[in-house]
Amino acid sequence: MNRDFLLFHKPFLSEEEVDEIVDTVRSGWLSMGPKTLRFESEFNSYIGASKSIAVSSWTAAGHLTLEAFGIKAGDEVIVPTMTFPATAEIVCYFGAKPVIVDVSEDTLNISLKEIEKSITPKTKAIIPVHYGGQPCDMDEILDIAKKYGLKVLEDAAHSLPATYKGKRIGTISDVTCFSFYATKTLSTGEGGMICTNDDELAERCSIMRLHGINRDAWKRYSESGSWYYEVVAPGFKYNFTDLQASLGLPQLKKVDYMWESRKQIAARYTEALKDLETIELHTVKDDRESSWHLFPIRLHLEKLNKTRAQIIEELRKNNIGVGVHFMPVHQHLYYNETFNLSDNEFPIASSVFPRLLSLPIYPGMNEDNVDRVISVLIDILNRAKR
Ligand SMILES: *Cc1c(COP(=O)(O)O)cnc(C)c1O
Repeated sequence: MNRDFLLFHKPFLSEEEVDEIVDTVRSGWLSMGPKTLRFESEFNSYIGASKSIAVSSWTAAGHLTLEAFGIKAGDEVIVPTMTFPATAEIVCYFGAKPVIVDVSEDTLNISLKEIEKSITPKTKAIIPVHYGGQPCDMDEILDIAKKYGLKVLEDAAHSLPATYKGKRIGTISDVTCFSFYATKTLSTGEGGMICTNDDELAERCSIMRLHGINRDAWKRYSESGSWYYEVVAPGFKYNFTDLQASLGLPQLKKVDYMWESRKQIAARYTEALKDLETIELHTVKDDRESSWHLFPIRLHLEKLNKTRAQIIEELRKNNIGVGVHFMPVHQHLYYNETFNLSDNEFPIASSVFPRLLSLPIYPGMNEDNVDRVISVLIDILNRAKR
């Protein structure tokens, strides 16, 4: 492995996580148990949510939420095209239709205009995605939802922690789902969390995450547990585990520190890159704070004699890993063919996508790393200027 290569992402792990994992292994309690409950409760207090339910991934969290919403075959759920396909696939699990819509030019968050245009009598819910960590226009989205009687599930896979008009993401709409996948801002390898202020939904999700067994099923093999349990619905195997919580508990203690260091990196990038004529930075609205999960830039390809792929390759040759977030959902084979979608229906995402690039941004990066990304990028862009 090339030691000089700056990875696009590295989770921020230390001896605390190692010690907690060792402690869990020694305890002999590997699956869902006391540490999962502690992680749920500490996460819940951190967010200020009313209930938090830990599950195996964002995808599981979203699936359980839509199940609790009562989504059925033939229903429609509105999702933005600028997201990871999981946001749309959970709708397909029900035989329902993900109604994929375009995003706003400035933030790449779901377009309000497109939401309203896409509502039909079959529409049941909206899944706004806080792209890169910057919250969507939640007041307006909640107004639309109220007007048409729709549910809202916030895809907050990128936005721990983030705030909207002073409120923390996770406390705004009925349900918010987070991801603790390896590359996310808090990582347990795999994992997710449902935050909700709806007691009935919380109850349904916590039953359905573990085979549809009544609440304390995870305790059935413990001293205080009972061998007797009842299955009230055919549920899923979506529970969190104490091994995952062993990473989550120490990560949660560092979550503000990690946020602060991403903010500093973002500020350094912004300062150095904002006046470059060959790229464009994202708009950050001033009534909200991004988690800075991503630092996306857009290339002005008309001013460059290189393609995005060539620029990515040059960055790689110069030991810098970058990413692209995302290929729009409507361009993926399945969604494209099944729902007969064309780029013309998504003018913004389709034109921005070929220009998009995400720079590395994570707390393990020091100032030298950030400055190296800046100088290498500026050098590549200057040499590629038309
Ligand atoms: C990562 C991601 C997901 C899926 O999260 P998992 O925990 O891997 O299931 C969903 N939505 C967005 C926007 C993501 O980036």
